[in-house]
Amino acid sequence: MTQTHAVVLGGSMAGLLTARVLTEHFERVTIVERDDVAGGWSGDPDADPREREVRRGVPQGRHAHGLLAAGLNVIEGLFPGATHEMAAAGMPTGDVLGNVRFCANGYRLKQAATGMEAVSFSRPYLETWVRSKVFALPGVTVRGGHDIVGIEPDAARARVIGARIQSADGPPETLTADLVVDATGKGSRAPRWLAELGFERPREERLQVDLAYVSRPYRVDPALLDGDIAIIVGPSAAAPRGGAIMLQEGGRAVITLFGILGDHAPLDDAGFRAYAKRLPLPYVSDIIEASEPLAAEAVKYRFPGSTRHRYDRLRRFPQGFVVLGDAMCSFNPMYGQGMSIAGIEAVTLGTLLEDGELDALRFFRKVKPIIDIPWQIATGGDAALPGVDGPKDLGTRMVNRYLDRLYATAAHDEVVSLAFSRVTNLLDPPTALLRPRIARRVLGRRRLTAA
Ligand SMILES: Cc1cc2nc3c(=O)[nH]c(=O)nc-3n(C[C@H](O)[C@H](O)[C@H](O)COP(=O)(O)OP(=O)(O)OC[C@H]3O[C@@H](n4cnc5c(N)ncnc54)[C@H](O)[C@@H]3O)c2cc1C
Repeated sequence: MTQTHAVVLGGSMAGLLTARVLTEHFERVTIVERDDVAGGWSGDPDADPREREVRRGVPQGRHAHGLLAAGLNVIEGLFPGATHEMAAAGMPTGDVLGNVRFCANGYRLKQAATGMEAVSFSRPYLETWVRSKVFALPGVTVRGGHDIVGIEPDAARARVIGARIQSADGPPETLTADLVVDATGKGSRAPRWLAELGFERPREERLQVDLAYVSRPYRVDPALLDGDIAIIVGPSAAAPRGGAIMLQEGGRAVITLFGILGDHAPLDDAGFRAYAKRLPLPYVSDIIEASEPLAAEAVKYRFPGSTRHRYDRLRRFPQGFVVLGDAMCSFNPMYGQGMSIAGIEAVTLGTLLEDGELDALRFFRKVKPIIDIPWQIATGGDAALPGVDGPKDLGTRMVNRYLDRLYATAAHDEVVSLAFSRVTNLLDPPTALLRPRIARRVLGRRRLTAA
């Protein structure tokens, strides 16, 4: 069934991918975005610096962003040929395990070709690519430079019939719509809007980590990475800080250092380099020392913790309205999940729209098990770090001990390394790591005992 008009609040990755999906179900789709976004795309990383510009609304764009295999699959599905086009536009590509060096708990996981592709990029360049595709779709209108003021209810306050928006110099306007999608990120005001309409606010779950990303652009000789397009050194229990190097379009790279619970990397050159030297493995520091920084200082992004709004637990929700992306759940970025989950949610929304008008509660319940998995990966991983106030029950302790052994095994065992990579790329659930074929390799003849 085709409905008439959908309005998407927020024109970042969740909003753009959702708008793409909605074009199959609505005659018109309007994206409202505070930043003055334009849809131009040259496909040449040196042609137009605006394609790499970090927008005010997406300050995380200065920091390392990776796209998991599950997310790339979504983008390929929505824009067939995407990977090929991104490569042609200068984004480094490679094998998701063969050319991505991943280190966990002080172990470098064994790399092997999987046949699955990965793309590396700067976040703004990827977003500009997606935006140019979405803005070019028939029926899509963009209201850049507009602030979303609120949602518009019907007289009975049971249905959302539009959104109130305002530009810096114009009068307020109401866009009427059959469906309003909130994709405004973790600052979403949907819980407040719901309360104003007399609905219950979703309960909030949080895991505080006091994480900071500290990033600096570099010119990196790709040969220094030995054929890899990205290196991720995750934190270990002994040294709970990490770093990432992502090769990007135009011969640039971003180097991000991250630490939790106030152990944040300094912004100045000497401090940044000294911090990198105390990561669990030397790969990031070695490349920093051999490369040319493209900015005098690094920049910082503080992330207090993962936050999940339990919309799936609500019993009442207005018709004509839905919330997704970071507005529903924002994950510790160390696990690189946000864009991929936003894409999966967008596709799920499309599946439900096949049946006609959206029932938001049905959507929230359908995506609940999808979100459970990355949430479990992120909060479980955080809980293993010293000082993080996460679940410490016997089950969690045993899982974390098992994972320690799994990382050690994956350093030399390709089968285990691939199984782990499929889980972190959201292709398989974490329970895949407990299958007998993997458990036998991880545990050998030893028995798993509680700490
Ligand atoms: C430091 C950091 C690193 C990350 N690394 C990764 C990674 O490696 N891989 C990954 O997949 N994800 C990563 N993420 C998460 C990822 O950035 C988000 O999940 C992704 O952008 C999807 O978010 P979103 O579109 O829901 O919200 P956002 O990206 O936050 O976008 C919200 C949009 O809404 C607009 N907006 C907000 N309020 C209003 C308003 N009132 N009026 C008008 N417009 C408004 C904003 O301008 C913005 O464009 C990272 C996040 C951070 C913070």
